[in-house]
Parts: sequence; structure tokens; C-alpha cells
Amino acid sequence: QPADVLAIIIKCINFAAVKHKYQRRKDPEKTPYVNHVIGVAEILTEEANVQDVEVIQAAILHDTVEDTDTSFDEIEAQFGVNVCQLVKEVTDDKSLPKAERKRLQVEHAAGSSPSAKLIKLADKLYNLRDLERVSPEGWAPERVQEYYEWAQKVVNELRGTNKKLEDSLDEIFKRHCTS
Ligand code: NDP
Ligand code: ZN
Repeated sequence: QPADVLAIIIKCINFAAVKHKYQRRKDPEKTPYVNHVIGVAEILTEEANVQDVEVIQAAILHDTVEDTDTSFDEIEAQFGVNVCQLVKEVTDDKSLPKAERKRLQVEHAAGSSPSAKLIKLADKLYNLRDLERVSPEGWAPERVQEYYEWAQKVVNELRGTNKKLEDSLDEIFKRHCTS
């Protein structure tokens, strides 16, 4: 691991906090968006036992290009080609309609790298825990249910990556999905 790993991680957290500063989560409390990306990184260190710094960096940065004005060039210049490649693998194409993006997440999941799969699993686990805690504002129960079922389809394509994360996800699916 690089000797300056602490400075590298703090640089990522600060970058994400600045980029996401106007964004809030969809929960009724309107939690700052950056809580999500920090939480995803913590799932990876605390639950998945991930020690690869570049995976943790990409987890912290995973929604910057998808949800803010950040470009991949900016990520590459600031954090290097490996981190940028990982962020690319977990970024949806925002030019596509939402339903198509959801379909492509299922289709692309199995073909992604092991590191990207870890981030995708942690991202889903965080979002599903958030959904179990409280429904987003304006979401009817049917929409919440659709999310659980779609997330299960994505996770089914990510299996064999990390047992702890997959077991935690399966506990959630057991509570909300029929299959
Ligand atoms: P999602 O339905 O995909 O919204 C969920 C995403 O929002 C998560 O993946 C997460 O993404 C982020 N998020 C932010 N806050 C929360 C939170 N508190 N809990 C969980 N997730 C959170 O996206 P859209 O709103 O873009 O809707 C897309 C799809 O929703 C459409 O394809 C359509 O099928 C469906 N839809 C269904 C409706 C219905 O009534 N059944 C109505 C409207 C849409 P991230 O990790 O990137 O932050
Ligand atoms: Zn996310």
C-alpha cells in the first residue's frame, strides 16, 4: 500500500464532499448525499474486509460522475487511471432512459471486474438498508417493492464476490422478496 494512504483517502472524501455538497438523499430527513458514499466505503472496510486502497477510493468517488458535474478526466487526473477505471465500471450512462439504465445494471453486473462487483454489492446493501429504515419521500409501497426486486436481480449477477455482503443482502431479500 502507498505510504501516504491516509492523505489519499482524505483527498477522496474531501473531493466527494465538495462535489456532492448541494445533493441530498431521498429520505425524509434529506440526509447529505456524501453520507452515502462514506457509508459504502465503510461497508467495504468494516464488513467486506477490503484492504485495497483503490477500491476504497473508487467507492468514495462512485457517484461523482453519475450525479455531479465531475468528468472521468478529472477523476483520472486527481486519482489515477486505476481508480478512474473502477469509477467507470460503476457509473450508469445518464444519457439513457431510467428503465434502460436499470436493465443495463442487471446485464452488465456479471461482466464487471471483482473490484467493481464489491462496490456494486456495497452500494446495493447501503441503499437497501436505507430503504428498510424509511421510504424515500413520495415512494408508494409498490415502488419500494420494485426496488427490492430489481436490486435482487442485480445482486444475483454479482454472486461469488464476497460472502459476508451477499449474506447480508440475502437477509434483506428474504424479508422482502418471494424468490
Ligand atoms: P431509483 O428508483 O433507482 O432511486 C433509487 C436510487 O436513489 C438508489 O439506487 C440510490 O442510488 C438513490 N437513493 C437516494 N436516496 C435513497 C434512499 N434514501 N434510499 C434508497 N436509495 C436512495 O431511481 P429513480 O428515482 O431515478 O427512478 C427510476 C425507476 O423507478 C424507473 O425506472 C421506474 O421503473 C421506477 N419508478 C417507479 C414508480 C412507481 O411508482 N412504481 C414511479 C417512478 C419511477 P445511488 O446509490 O446512485 O444514490
Ligand atoms: Zn451509490
